[in-house]
Amino acid sequence: MPDQFETLAIHAGQQPDPSTGAVMTPIYQTSTFVQDAVGVHKGYEYSRSGNPTRTALQDCFAALEAAKYGLAFASGLAATDTIIRQFVPGDHILVGGDVYGGTFRLFEKEYKDFGIEFSYVDMDDVQAVQANLRANTKLVWLETPTNPYLGLADIAALAEMLKAQPSKPLFAVDNTFASPYLQQPLALGADLVIHSATKYLGGHSDVVLGLVALNDDELHTKLAFTQNAAGAVPGPMDSFLVLRGIKTLHLRMERHGENAAKIADYLVAHPKVSQIFYPYHASHPQQALARKQMRNGGGMLSFELKGGEAAARAVAESTRLFALAESLGGVESLIEVPAVMTHLSVANSPLAVDPGLVRLSVGVENVDDLIADLEQALAKA
Ligand SMILES: *Cc1c(COP(=O)(O)O)cnc(C)c1O
Repeated sequence: MPDQFETLAIHAGQQPDPSTGAVMTPIYQTSTFVQDAVGVHKGYEYSRSGNPTRTALQDCFAALEAAKYGLAFASGLAATDTIIRQFVPGDHILVGGDVYGGTFRLFEKEYKDFGIEFSYVDMDDVQAVQANLRANTKLVWLETPTNPYLGLADIAALAEMLKAQPSKPLFAVDNTFASPYLQQPLALGADLVIHSATKYLGGHSDVVLGLVALNDDELHTKLAFTQNAAGAVPGPMDSFLVLRGIKTLHLRMERHGENAAKIADYLVAHPKVSQIFYPYHASHPQQALARKQMRNGGGMLSFELKGGEAAARAVAESTRLFALAESLGGVESLIEVPAVMTHLSVANSPLAVDPGLVRLSVGVENVDDLIADLEQALAKA
């Protein structure tokens, strides 16, 4: 199979169905599979252990992350949970400073009680990460770009530093915000890649699903064991929806990036906006890293309003095309106020965000229509 991203997105892991010739992978909506004799089957016995629609998704996704293995889960957090289950009391996990709120909640409110230690550090500084490693650090967990400030960390530099440590902690990257089209962490030296496929991979805001990509045989065996033993698997319909979404990932990510870059240029010049946060914009302190590590700036963008929370609320409640909603990564544009929506759980903590911050998930609509919508909403701020 040719190995260009666009071709893999459409064909990897998929063959015409052998029983009917169906070009698209069928939704194998079945829990069990008939056996020819006791213990003699075609590779599938029971759909928690394996389902052909899920297999096609796992293999297609693995190809996009240039990984040996892909594993699918019921949600992004179920994927994260499966990874954390590999650790034992007394292990320490070092986590990026502004990690996704649900990940933070899973670590702090579930796994801390089991005796796993977590600590947090901003990962834009490799030396600070190194200084925060402990003798029992078994995993380093990074998100880049981060949410909602779109801060970046240098995956290759962190991987190099971690590989030189005597304790050799595993290095996991949550690649949800970038998608494998913009950034491939395994190729930059990471050991594990996690996605909320609910976002860009699915791409249509119609499914919740998680994915993990990796190269290591032994770790794959362990994670595949837990996938079956704990059973947080996606159903065949959900697997199909993500497999279908992936076919246009490269086209969508190109347009998300183009639209967001134009909106960044528009917002930075707007008199009511004090600051924008967009990785490919000249105003971003890590623009050079963004251009080295990511194929474009992506579809996520945040901006601060001079009028503070009241102005942020007014803008978010006045858009007509941008829907006021949490989540991200779909073809449709979304707007939200992180301080009182996605990031309410971190209010009054070091992770708290400015109440005048507005976050956009820029969709693939006509960009002039999107800018006109922001223009009329900003007029009300
Ligand atoms: C949404 C999200 C998750 C959690 O994924 P779910 O599919 O909602 O469980 C994890 N990380 C990031 C960066 C996310 O945006």
